[in-house]
Amino acid sequence: MSQTAENTRERKSKRNLGALVRNLVGARPYDDRVDTQSNISTLEVLAIIARSFKQLAPVKVLFASKVALAIFMMIPGLLLPQIAKIVVDNAVLQLPLGSWKVEFPPFMDPILTLLADKSPIEIMLTISIIFVAMLFLTGARIKGMSSQLLEGEDAATQAENSISQGGSAGSGLLGLVEFMVNVRLTQNLGNNLRLRLFDRLARLPMNVLDDQRTGDSIYRVLYDVPMAPDLIYRLTTVPLLMLLGAGVNLYILQYSYGQVAPQLIWIAWITFPIAFLITFPAAGALRRTNQNKRAAGAAATNAMEESVNSIAAVQSLGAGKSESERFADRSSESFLRERFTIAVVGAVGLVAQGVLGIAAIYVTVLFSNAVIDQQMTAGDFFVLIGVYYGIVIPAAFFGSYWIKLQEVIAAVRRVFFFLDYESEEERMVGLPQHEIQNRIELKNVHYTYPNGTKALEAIDLEFSIGQFVAIVGPTGSGKTTLAYLIPGLLSPTSGEVLLDGTNASEVNVARVREHVSYVFQEHVFLPTTIRDNLLIANPNASDDQMMSALETAGCMEFIDDLQAGIETRLGRGGDTLSVGQQQRLSIARGMLREAKVLILDEPTSALDPVTEDLLVESLKVASRDRLVIVIAHRLSTIRNADRIFFLEEGQVRESGTHQELMDRPDGSYREFVSLQSN
Ligand code: ADP
Repeated sequence: MSQTAENTRERKSKRNLGALVRNLVGARPYDDRVDTQSNISTLEVLAIIARSFKQLAPVKVLFASKVALAIFMMIPGLLLPQIAKIVVDNAVLQLPLGSWKVEFPPFMDPILTLLADKSPIEIMLTISIIFVAMLFLTGARIKGMSSQLLEGEDAATQAENSISQGGSAGSGLLGLVEFMVNVRLTQNLGNNLRLRLFDRLARLPMNVLDDQRTGDSIYRVLYDVPMAPDLIYRLTTVPLLMLLGAGVNLYILQYSYGQVAPQLIWIAWITFPIAFLITFPAAGALRRTNQNKRAAGAAATNAMEESVNSIAAVQSLGAGKSESERFADRSSESFLRERFTIAVVGAVGLVAQGVLGIAAIYVTVLFSNAVIDQQMTAGDFFVLIGVYYGIVIPAAFFGSYWIKLQEVIAAVRRVFFFLDYESEEERMVGLPQHEIQNRIELKNVHYTYPNGTKALEAIDLEFSIGQFVAIVGPTGSGKTTLAYLIPGLLSPTSGEVLLDGTNASEVNVARVREHVSYVFQEHVFLPTTIRDNLLIANPNASDDQMMSALETAGCMEFIDDLQAGIETRLGRGGDTLSVGQQQRLSIARGMLREAKVLILDEPTSALDPVTEDLLVESLKVASRDRLVIVIAHRLSTIRNADRIFFLEEGQVRESGTHQELMDRPDGSYREFVSLQSN
């Protein structure tokens, strides 16, 4: 086979697969390119954030519960430093209560009242009880319940887990409740997104799917989606909690230490801009690296998927080694990018921590001086440490917020990219329904593929219900493209497709397609039973209808030999059947659909002459009340047609019956036929 013919075949097989899915789900293609650029503008990031917020709408109550619980669980973090101060000053150092140099914030009043007039040992005991109660309620807050999820080694389990765990960090009794709320919340979000994404993928324009290969689609559904709930969590709850925590700690600092050590106040305030200044410049670079990393990951998945799909070809051509090398390239590229991302994150973290460390040293010196000068007590050290972390952690968070966002935003952008494609239904809303009654016309139709290939030029033709039509012509002459225009699997670049005189672009093609049954050249089967594969085409088909379709397409002779008959399960892609058997089954499925228009692409190429005769005979019968269009090479199939359209280089060269066309002395069809029979 020549190189061009091979390319055409390869492209066709991909296109046919996409077309089958769309034919079955009733979607229509339109032109667009898939996202490939790695640059996301800041504006776009903000838009993605805004969209993420919208995703929370269906889970409002769960989300509100989660936020409330998370706020409640912050209380121990605020109380602990103050309690530690009492333990040090009044239990260990045994200073009398009330001899503190620095005031407690008002929220400590109930505890202070409880402790009034107590001896050091009683103070210790009361505080221990309070501590145990807090421990029971909120736990040690070291590692959250998320560690309880069964962690598989495989990426799929981990991705599932990241859907489930979200950002739960609590433990103890409340931690358990929070964790349960969290699992439900993130699973709901993840599931919503995953279902919508899958639905969109199934309805994507054919030209998009041509470029956008299966591996990438799988990658999006499996690995990118779990990132989305995480992003939504990081975008909403975490900043809120961080802001709240920082606010309360700044308040404590101002309230208790504003008079004694005003320097502490300005150090606390400048922590924020410093952390931000260090981390922000690296954000853009990190975002690009991340997008590239995920794209490389998808490319590796793709390489794997392609090789597995074409394993027979790979092995028979002895291409195993080169395929392995191809995969190794993609795979190591993906890991290289991963390492680069880690290095960027590490370097930025190091600088940020260095600067914040210097601030910590300064605070310690300040504090030591204040204790020596008797402006503070030893216990204040614990409050200051608590407050310091209460401010530095949110500051570092907001500084790195933008960066951390990059990890997830690339993924979410990829998910949203597909969700942004309008669905067929959305575009068709309000368009009138149309059931083909009588005829289909193509008027001055041109079709050019997005890569510039002119597949059809100035096509004018007409088909009517009740006809048996053959489309004939050399490979690459545009037969399949022409057939795709009929059920709207492609829309003309210019010109009109008229259904009973109405322009197809003005009616709901999804509904039109319900009346068109398309049997593709590539036979695509799901790995379920023969019966289930038939029912895809017509879920209401009775057993009798199925049997008669199977009979007509010549399937019974091999089904009778199968032990489980039509309950036999097919292998992946139907590969437990021979090519000829797959072809017949595919035809039976097409016939079962009982559509007004039946289109068959090369239906008889793998059939033996007897089966072919039977099939052609039944197609003729079927065409009494339908339009049957066959794309065919074999003379035995073509010669029975009521009308033949002969295509060459994207144009209809001749049309008529076999006899009429054969009677033209220099006709192209006649020449085509004579070449065939030599
Ligand atoms: P036929 O069915 O007669 O073999 P096709 O309709 O498949 O022809 O193809 C017509 C022309 O369009 C060929 O030149 C083919 O290479 C080109 N073509 C088909 N599919 C695509 C595609 N997805 N992108 C670009 N060109 C395409």
